[in-house]
Amino acid sequence: MSNWVIPPPAQTSVPVAGSDALFPVRRIYCVGRNYEAHAREMGGDPKRESPFYFMKPTDALQLDGAAIPYPPRTANFHHEIEFVAALSSGGRDIKVADALDHVFGYAVGNDLTRRDLQLAARDKGRPWFTGKSFEHCATISPIRPARTIGHPKQGRIWLTVNGAKRQDSDINGLIWNVAEVIADLSTYFELRAGDLIYTGTPDGVGPLKVGDKVEGGIDGIGTLTNTIV
Ligand code: MN
Repeated sequence: MSNWVIPPPAQTSVPVAGSDALFPVRRIYCVGRNYEAHAREMGGDPKRESPFYFMKPTDALQLDGAAIPYPPRTANFHHEIEFVAALSSGGRDIKVADALDHVFGYAVGNDLTRRDLQLAARDKGRPWFTGKSFEHCATISPIRPARTIGHPKQGRIWLTVNGAKRQDSDINGLIWNVAEVIADLSTYFELRAGDLIYTGTPDGVGPLKVGDKVEGGIDGIGTLTNTIV
């Protein structure tokens, strides 16, 4: 018999590719503007300015195959296909040279965004919170362990909507690579096992509508398919 006054929330988890093992998720960190062409399309400066971050609620995470409800309070719901790192350990002030030792594996993710709310907040100097953090706002493929694929430095990253190409780039275009992101992020927060880091999206972001089939992938890591309902 437990002392919980209400049932405790379920532990969010992500399947590990090629096994029946599950990766338990603690936090979801996201990097803003981390590819030059996307920084430009968002009206930003593509030069190598320091990375910046936001978070998504862990219980928002949806798996490959999930139906994603079109969210409320937006008329411009966007896809952002991203390279995701999953941490098996963490710490503070991690050195770039040691950072990849903390990565369990990699996945394909979609940083779903209420673009109209995000841009309105940005233009008023307010937090991105309502634009970026809401129910079902992140999807993720099974995690491919680094022990089987190593630490990818390149690979095509792409997204289609109803079969039409929207995003098509390469993870070698990251302004800040995974090791640099882990090192920098760990100067702000104590990273821990179970943390996911969405490393940013390449150019080609765009709107989704009810009924859309959204497919994406990264060569060597996996694919991710979701429908908007
Ligand atoms: Mn993003």
